[in-house]
Amino acid sequence: MDHFFDAPAFSQASKQFKLIADYLDISPSMREPLFWPKRCIAVSVPVKMDDGSIANFEGYRVQHHLAMGPTKGGIRFTPTLTMGEVAALAMWMSWKCALAGLPYGGAAGGVRVDPGQLSVAELERLSRRFMQEMIPFVGPRSDIMGPDMGTNERVMAWLMDTYSAYLGYSEPGIVTGKPVSIGGTTGRREATGMGVVYLIERAAHLIKLRLAGGSAVVQGFGTVGSVVAHGLAYRNGMKVIGIGDSSGAYFDKTGIDIWRVQSHVLENGDLRNFEGAERISANNLLTLPCDVLVPAAVGGVINRQNAAKLQCRILAEAANGPTTTEGDRILFERWNEIFVIPDILCNAGGVVVSYFEWVQGLQSFFWTRSEIVDRLFRTMEQAFVAVTRRAKQQKIPHRISALAIAVERVMKARQEFGLFP
Ligand code: NAD
Repeated sequence: MDHFFDAPAFSQASKQFKLIADYLDISPSMREPLFWPKRCIAVSVPVKMDDGSIANFEGYRVQHHLAMGPTKGGIRFTPTLTMGEVAALAMWMSWKCALAGLPYGGAAGGVRVDPGQLSVAELERLSRRFMQEMIPFVGPRSDIMGPDMGTNERVMAWLMDTYSAYLGYSEPGIVTGKPVSIGGTTGRREATGMGVVYLIERAAHLIKLRLAGGSAVVQGFGTVGSVVAHGLAYRNGMKVIGIGDSSGAYFDKTGIDIWRVQSHVLENGDLRNFEGAERISANNLLTLPCDVLVPAAVGGVINRQNAAKLQCRILAEAANGPTTTEGDRILFERWNEIFVIPDILCNAGGVVVSYFEWVQGLQSFFWTRSEIVDRLFRTMEQAFVAVTRRAKQQKIPHRISALAIAVERVMKARQEFGLFP
């Protein structure tokens, strides 16, 4: 089945799984069912463009396992999306939910499209048609969608509306990350970033690193990266000396004004032509000397070429799969220098608050912001303690520890049932 999933992210997820399966000494007969996705759906998404032509896009959804509840996972609108990338994201989501103790299997999905090239009306038609094609495969009790790269609250609202129109009544449980006015939860938009900042604070405390006055670099200034940059600069008094997005990277050793970045991105859509810092090459961004490095954009950016050159004390993996297996091997050797907060722990805040949103929607009973933030931090804390404790006891890297806890939990659930889920 390998060729079907051919993609760098899938091969990364697959090598990672093998490493954990070897470490946990999982029997060959259990490995395959634990690893392969339960279902993969590919759909054709024809969209009428504003000029009257019809464009056809490919859409995907992968549901990894059903042993712990419905599946849950983001929707990505990116120009290079493949079934393999989606399958990797679904698998990581399974591990992430298990690590955070959420009653979900992992899923992921999306459309291979550059949303920046579409008008708002085209984007709406694309989102609605994608959901229309997905209706037979998803549901509030079977597979729940959420936002990821290239999608946002507005896209979630269109997905929910299309599903609700099909049912004939409003069904908020079909998506999370929707606007608060239609049943979304307060705090969801910032949840991933808040969780990342919380864990950076915890890690800094553990290694006795003073954040105030220290330096940080953040790659990606979208939903996650912007919240992290704000949290590090204004909650912790750090200098954000480097930022970057798909349009370029910028540096200022005295600290970049994050409010200025925010308003520039709001006005222009991205960092292009930002004048508040010096333009540097994107390749140099991640290797800048800094206390905290946060990749919050695409996968595979820390790899064989640059892992040995990283000059940070804490690497907080806000993105999914930012470190390749080869990059990881180098980081394993540097465990004494760099405290890695692995992705399935680091960015779990998003799915944790998505879970809160789903529960609130099912009960039509809404919580206050402080209840949400408090429960989010408690969940992140439990996962952080479990990961760092096991890593210390067994003298293993944090990523191995996090994945081992998660894979063990999923395996246990699957063994209770036998072969089917
Ligand atoms: P987003 O679309 O809001 O923002 C993505 C950012 O990355 C943008 O600033 C974009 O310009 C930048 N980017 C894209 N390609 C780039 C490249 N090649 N080099 C540098 N920058 C690039 O997405 P997001 O929701 O903030 O997600 C960012 C990452 O966090 C993704 O890996 C996503 O899977 C992960 N994540 C997101 C959530 C969430 O709640 N949104 C939850 C968990 C994990």
